[in-house]
Amino acid sequence: MLRRAQEERQEWLPYAADAEGLEHDNLEEQEVEEVSGTKYKNYFSAPRFYCVETICAPCGVVIAWRKFAKAEGVAKILRFLEDIYADPSFRPSYIAIDKGCALLKHIVKQGHWPTWEPTTQIIVDSYHYINHRTTDHLCRTWCNPAPLNGDAPNLVVVDEDKEGRPYYKRAFNTQACEQLNAWLGGFQTVLNRMTVSNFDFTMHVLLFLHTQRVIARQQVRQEEAGDESEDEEDENGVRYGPQEVQDDDD
Ligand SMILES: [Zn+2]
Repeated sequence: MLRRAQEERQEWLPYAADAEGLEHDNLEEQEVEEVSGTKYKNYFSAPRFYCVETICAPCGVVIAWRKFAKAEGVAKILRFLEDIYADPSFRPSYIAIDKGCALLKHIVKQGHWPTWEPTTQIIVDSYHYINHRTTDHLCRTWCNPAPLNGDAPNLVVVDEDKEGRPYYKRAFNTQACEQLNAWLGGFQTVLNRMTVSNFDFTMHVLLFLHTQRVIARQQVRQEEAGDESEDEEDENGVRYGPQEVQDDDD
C-alpha cells in the first residue's frame, strides 16, 4: 500500500481529476485519499499489472523468466513451463515451486500428467512446504521436498557432522528462486516506476548479471576445490590462490 501511495505522487504520472490535491499540506491525508480512491486507473505501473516468475537451477542460474498479468495462476505457470520445456526430454527430474501441490492437481485435472509423469516430479520448495497443510494428502505424498522414507534418494543425502554422526540433508537448494526474489526485491522501487519496455530490459539485464555472478562464483569454488595443488607459489612461499589478496610489502 505504501509503495502505491509513493508511486502515485510522481510528477510524471497523470493526475486524472483536480490538481488541487497537490496543494494539500497534509501529505498523509493526500496519501489516504489516493490509495483509497479510484482516480488513477489508466497508466501502466508494474506492481499492479505484473508479477514476475522465474525458473532457476538449484545453483541460482536463471533459466527463464516471464511477466504474468496480475497474478500467478497455476494455469499460467503450467503454460510457462510447457513453453520453456516444450521438449519433454529436456525437462528436469524435479520442479520445486511454492504452489507445487496446486500445480500438480491442475496438471492432473487438465490431462497433462501423461506428458510430465515420465520425466518430472513436482514438489514444493522447502521454504513454503512447512506452511502447507499437513492434512493435504496429495501434498504430503507427492510434493515433499525432502522425504525421509527413502522415496527420493536424489533429494535427501546422508552427510556427517563434525563428530562423525550421520544426518540427513537436502541434496539441492530448492530455494534458489526465493533467494533470487529477495535480491530482486532490492530493485523493486525502481522497477515499479518504469515503462513496460524499460521494465523488460532492466529485468533482463538484472537476471543476466545475477547469472554471470553465480557462474563466476561457481568457477572460483571449483578452482579452489579442484586444483589446490595448482595454486602458484612464489619464491617466498606465498601462495596465490584464486581469491587471495596479499600485501606485498612484508
Ligand atoms: Zn501443498
